[in-house]
Amino acid sequence: MKIVFLDRDGVINQYPGHGEYVTRVKDLHIFPEAVIAIKRLKDAQYKVFIISNQACIGRGIITQGKLDQITNKLIQAADRRGITFDGIFYCTHHPDDQCSCRKPGIGNIKKAVASVGKTLSSIKGAFFVGDTDKDIETGYNAGLKTILVETGRDRYKHVKWGENKPHFVVQDLEAAAEIILNENSGHSRHRRSRA
Ligand SMILES: [Mg+2]
Ligand SMILES: [Zn+2]
Repeated sequence: MKIVFLDRDGVINQYPGHGEYVTRVKDLHIFPEAVIAIKRLKDAQYKVFIISNQACIGRGIITQGKLDQITNKLIQAADRRGITFDGIFYCTHHPDDQCSCRKPGIGNIKKAVASVGKTLSSIKGAFFVGDTDKDIETGYNAGLKTILVETGRDRYKHVKWGENKPHFVVQDLEAAAEIILNENSGHSRHRRSRA
């Protein structure tokens, strides 16, 4: 099965700033090229899941209803392009809750995979795309291949990487989609790996 996992903030929409959250519908600034990228993946029969930490709920900064409104803006923007996400999985817990779904935990990836009747071990080689070292760690924890997009919080050169370096580093989600599509069609010569 073709399946891809995307972080939300800093990947699909503008990074809201360190320690900040998207708390208003009007503050969700969707990258046009991200929508194009997701369209390309969907057209190539990929299942596309969003895996996002939104502790703003657990911290009492916004309500679940507000998060739903923000999500609806994203769903509608995608819908205008004929795109339907296969699932949007948020961790809304407080960081102190010690849940299993807060990235770098993989609870939400497991849920996403289960929603299409698969297991993690059956989707080896799938990609996780994110804008932070935590996203990359999440991908590793789930046994996925990872792509860091430099449209959000982290730039590759500014992070002190440990064991888990991103498999690929690209400028945006469109370039990430290119890698994913090439990788799985066997044409990997255009890869831009820095890892
Ligand atoms: Mg992010
Ligand atoms: Zn959680």
